[in-house]
Amino acid sequence: MADKPHQNLAIIGHVDHGKSTLVGRLLFETGSVPEHIIEQHKEEAAEKGKSGFEFAYVMDNLAEERERGVTIDIAHQRFDTDKYYFTIVDTPGHRDFVKNMITGASQADHAVLVVAADDGVAPQTREHVFLARTLGIETLIIAINKMDAVDYSEDTYKKVKAEVQELLKQVRFDSDDARFIPISAFEGDNIAEHTGTMDWFDGPTVLEALNNLPEPSPPTDAPLRIPIQDVYTISGIGTVPVGRIETGTLNTGDNVRFMPSDAGGEVKTIEMHHEEVASAGPGDNIGFNVRGVGKDDIRRGDVCGPADDPPTVVDTFKAQIVVMQHPSVITAGYTPVIHAHTAQVACTFEALDQKIDPSSGEVAEENPDFIKAGDAAVVTLRPQKPMVLEPSSEIPELGSFAIRDMGQTIAAGKVLEVNEK
Ligand code: GDP
Repeated sequence: MADKPHQNLAIIGHVDHGKSTLVGRLLFETGSVPEHIIEQHKEEAAEKGKSGFEFAYVMDNLAEERERGVTIDIAHQRFDTDKYYFTIVDTPGHRDFVKNMITGASQADHAVLVVAADDGVAPQTREHVFLARTLGIETLIIAINKMDAVDYSEDTYKKVKAEVQELLKQVRFDSDDARFIPISAFEGDNIAEHTGTMDWFDGPTVLEALNNLPEPSPPTDAPLRIPIQDVYTISGIGTVPVGRIETGTLNTGDNVRFMPSDAGGEVKTIEMHHEEVASAGPGDNIGFNVRGVGKDDIRRGDVCGPADDPPTVVDTFKAQIVVMQHPSVITAGYTPVIHAHTAQVACTFEALDQKIDPSSGEVAEENPDFIKAGDAAVVTLRPQKPMVLEPSSEIPELGSFAIRDMGQTIAAGKVLEVNEK
C-alpha cells in the first residue's frame, strides 16, 4: 500500500449535496469500511429514525471519533485505487471544514466537487470553487450527484454541467469534459461501476477518474519546517515538541532553531509511532527532543527549522485574499485572527492595496476604501505578536492562512511577500 503514490483529496460542495454520502460510498466500494460496520450503522441509523442515511452516518461517526481522538495523525480516512492511495484531507460537514481546508495539516492536491443535480450550483459550490482555485488545487473532478432524484435525466445533467462550467470559467479554472460524472452516491451509480442506469453516459466512473488523476507534484526541496502542535514533558526524555514535518528532513544531530521563540540546539532523539528513528521527512508526525530546549522555551505555533536557515518571523506581509463571508465591510484597521499552520495570531489590516477581479486576475481598483464578501484583494497585514510565515511561492505549506472572526472563516489567503522582523 505504501509503495503507491499518495494523493490528498478534498471533497467540496454545498451542504446536503451529498459529500458525506459520497465519501462513505467510496470507502465502502474500495473495501475500506467492512460491510459489517456498514450493517451496524444501518441498524443504528434505523433505530434513530435516520434510515437510509447509513453512508452519511458512517461519516458522522468517523468525524466524532476524530474529534475525540488522541492521535495527531488525521489520516484515517484512506482508500486505494490501483494506482494511488488517497487520504481525504478533511471530514466534509465538519464545522471547521473551510478553515481546515486552508490551514489543514496537509493541503489537498485534487478535489472532487459534488453538485446535486436537483439543486445545481449553490452558494457553497461557488465558495468552495473559489477557495480551491485560491489554494492551488490542481484538478477538479465534478460529480453531479443525486441523479436518481432526477430520473437519471441526461437533460438535467447537461443543464447542471453547463452551470458548473460557467462557474469554472468565471474563476478561470481549467475544466475538462472528461472530469464531469453523473452519479448517485446513494445508489452507487457510476462510483465503482456503470450500473446501467445512465447508458447515455460513456465517461469514467468516479474511481476510474481518481485513478487517472495526474501524479502528485514531487516534494519541493524547501528547507525543514515543522509547525509545533504541542510541547510535552516526558519523564526520562525531557521536553518533547510534537508536530508534522511539512517540508525537508530532520535528522538526529541536526542543529535546529524554533521561531519566533528563538530557542534551539542539537536534535537528540526523534520518535515516530512510538519508535525511535534517525531521520524523518515530509508528512511524518513526530515527537523529538532538542538539547538545551526546555518546556517554557517553546510553544504551539512555533516553527522549527535548520539553525542556518531558520523560519521567517514577519513584521508585515502582503497577501492575496478572497473574502468568503463578512456581515459588513473590511477596511484598514480591522484586526481579526489569522490561522496559519499551528499559529493563531491577531493581525491588523494595515493597507488594502488592490482589489482584484476574480475572473481575470487583473487589478480592478488601486487602494480601495473597503472590500466585502466575494471580493479578492491584495492586502498588507501586520501581526500583533511575532509569527512565522513564508511566501507561498517558496514554501506553500507555510504560506496559506484562514482569517477568522466571530467564530467564522471570513477569508482565505496566501502570502505573496514577507517583510522580516
Ligand atoms: P453533505 O452535507 O454534502 O455531506 O450531504 P450528505 O451526504 O449528508 O447528504 C445530504 C442528504 O442527501 C442526505 O439525506 C443523503 O441521504 C442525501 N443524498 C446523498 N446522496 C444522494 C443521492 O445520490 N441520491 C439521493 N436521492 N439522495 C442523496
